[in-house]
Amino acid sequence: MPGQPGAARFDVLVVGAGHAGAHLAMSLRQLGFRGTVALLGDEPDWPYERPPLSKDYLAGAKPFEALLLKEPEYWALKDIAVLRGRRVVSVDPTAHEVRTGDGAALGYGVLAWCAGGVPRRLPCAGSHLAGVHTVRTRADVDLMREELATAARVAVVGGGYIGLEAASVLTEMGKAVTVIEMQDRVLARVAGEPVSRFYEAEHRARGVQVMLNTVVSRIEERDGRAGGVRLGDGTVLPADMVVAGIGIVPAVQPLLDAGAAGGNGVEVDACCRTSLPDIYAVGDCAAHRNRFADGGSVRVESVQNAVDQAFVAARAITGAPAPYDAVPWFWSNQYDLRLQTVGLSAGHDAVVVRGEPAARSFSVIYLRRSAVVALDCVNATRDYVQGKALVAGALVVEPARLADTTQPLKALAAAGRA
Ligand SMILES: Cc1cc2nc3c(=O)[nH]c(=O)nc-3n(C[C@H](O)[C@H](O)[C@H](O)COP(=O)(O)OP(=O)(O)OC[C@H]3O[C@@H](n4cnc5c(N)ncnc54)[C@H](O)[C@@H]3O)c2cc1C
Repeated sequence: MPGQPGAARFDVLVVGAGHAGAHLAMSLRQLGFRGTVALLGDEPDWPYERPPLSKDYLAGAKPFEALLLKEPEYWALKDIAVLRGRRVVSVDPTAHEVRTGDGAALGYGVLAWCAGGVPRRLPCAGSHLAGVHTVRTRADVDLMREELATAARVAVVGGGYIGLEAASVLTEMGKAVTVIEMQDRVLARVAGEPVSRFYEAEHRARGVQVMLNTVVSRIEERDGRAGGVRLGDGTVLPADMVVAGIGIVPAVQPLLDAGAAGGNGVEVDACCRTSLPDIYAVGDCAAHRNRFADGGSVRVESVQNAVDQAFVAARAITGAPAPYDAVPWFWSNQYDLRLQTVGLSAGHDAVVVRGEPAARSFSVIYLRRSAVVALDCVNATRDYVQGKALVAGALVVEPARLADTTQPLKALAAAGRA
């Protein structure tokens, strides 16, 4: 079926105007692409940075304008049509056409799917009550900030990065915060035990109640809103606000319905091509083989991955393909602690602690089959910068030398390569 006559058509149609989508459109122009480009997203705002949502923006320390990836004028200047507040609901790969929620059809030469993910909802009764929040969009945080004026007690469900960042901001705002985590440590999915225990202690020291091995069985209602959290053992924790930070579900259903290979995300090759012709996928929603991961395909939820994959896809679209091979990196801010991560630690079989957690400046180095695969650096930027070479080369260095803070990682990397 050819495209609907009269339907708007773009040489490249980017769906999702977050980090991946915006950077893909920008990269196309940077690489000299002259065709028509549209950047379509379901949020009403110009493309903005998401990390400050659980940090400075939630704290009220940054206005929304400071989060914009580019000034609004930039897009017109680069001849990129930004279609805001539009949602793609289906994809027809044969006709090279998508349909939006308002029934309109848009044709494409190349489709770039950059739709990220939607926050996982709490799988219990009461999760849809007013006062139960997730932290993914500006609108989410604006609503939270409005309600915080009258909230004294906040229950944060999920002790991952987003939950802990929100907990740190809310604690500094003077709220009584409880973090409820079902596993036996915070950050269990993303970091090793020494990092988890360190952050747990930091939160407790500031008055956060951290409950581990604890599940939520329902959100209790009070006056038509969330009024508390019932735990697995029947205890009810009173709360004026509940914040759920329990991960995302990749937003890929229209592509899967159209026949793309995938499941937990849409599968892409090293150049971000999906299994469907002329359709690419980039960012949080793209499952790919990453040489820094321990086998299989992974989705990497980070700004670095979104931006670097966007460039890789733009290269392939403009006829100069080069495979994705970037070293993963990530950061998290909590209180006065800056965590910087390089590499992917999942599947590690040994850890080395470098420095003294009690000094609040240290690194945890992860090894897999003796090679360095990742570092978590807490207030230790030098290790983070110098450790990148250890990860990039998967270098094998004796643990005792890695732990020795008198030996700069730069020197160990040089010796490891020799
Ligand atoms: C609160 C928070 C804090 C974070 N902190 C950090 C951090 O400190 N460091 C770090 O590296 N990463 C951080 N991240 C992760 C990082 O923001 C994401 O990895 C990054 O935003 C992924 O970019 P993306 O473009 O793939 O997805 P997104 O940024 O989510 O963009 C996807 C966009 O597509 C839209 N969309 C979805 N479906 C459709 C559709 N069908 N039609 C049209 N539009 C659609 C979405 O609404 C969204 O606007 C954080 C994320 C959050 C939420």
